[in-house]
Amino acid sequence: FDVYSAPVMNARGKLKGIVLVFHDITELKKLEQVRKDFVANVSHELKTPITSLKGFAETLLDGAGENEEYRNKFLTIMLNESDRLQALIQDLLDLSKSEQGFHLETQSVDLGALVNDTFEILQPKAEKKGIALSVDISGETVMDGDSPRLKQIVINLVSNSLTYTPAGGRVNVSVEELEDHVKLLIKDTGIGIKESEIPRIFERFYRVDKARSRNSGGTGLGLAIVKHLVEAHHGTIEVQSKPGEGSQFTILFPKKLEL
Ligand code: ADP
Repeated sequence: FDVYSAPVMNARGKLKGIVLVFHDITELKKLEQVRKDFVANVSHELKTPITSLKGFAETLLDGAGENEEYRNKFLTIMLNESDRLQALIQDLLDLSKSEQGFHLETQSVDLGALVNDTFEILQPKAEKKGIALSVDISGETVMDGDSPRLKQIVINLVSNSLTYTPAGGRVNVSVEELEDHVKLLIKDTGIGIKESEIPRIFERFYRVDKARSRNSGGTGLGLAIVKHLVEAHHGTIEVQSKPGEGSQFTILFPKKLEL
């Protein structure tokens, strides 16, 4: 508690009493801790690839660069680490924008058509991994929304499904018209998520398996961004999952958005 006190005087300047104000700062302290954890996480996430980049550059300068095989191997690692840094910085910028209560550029968007557009970006990754990616669209899937941001929601969720589904699996995206909503469903036959982990996966930097996420270029920020973007569209997001069987992300968007 923060305590504030002030004397109360009567008209003749005599002390009548004291006012005490107790201010509950539990929530403020919690927010402060979240902010501190976030800064610590960001620093750690930025430092790791930089340390690795420096290490490989030094090794190359020390002579390892003379061997072509080593040179190529180290330069490939350095390129991957640079990609990770770039992805992290992009995600941090997206997250910061989405947390600042950004302005949605809304227009009438056909979510089904938008999903088909993202297919071009996602299909190569699916093919590379040997995953069957399919899309089903039913009804008039037109809604009010911000097209680039809706695309980001779809790309982040489908990319996750492709990352966390082993080769030979399936990922299905369906867009369905309901009475007042448009439903977006992303379903995979991947590794799944334990029930106890589900509430945590939308937290910034939370990953069930840090190594797996890192190796696949994950930053741990994708779902935090998705949640903000869905909420900005007044939508809801739910997860159903079974370890070893797969996961299903259900998003409901209202057709009409009153901002
Ligand atoms: P990341 O960059 O690590 O994928 P996200 O915020 O997108 O970060 O996801 C957070 C964590 O949630 C992931 O690290 C992973 O453990 C889990 N996760 C997300 N999507 C899936 C999925 N489709 N199947 C299994 N686990 C998932």
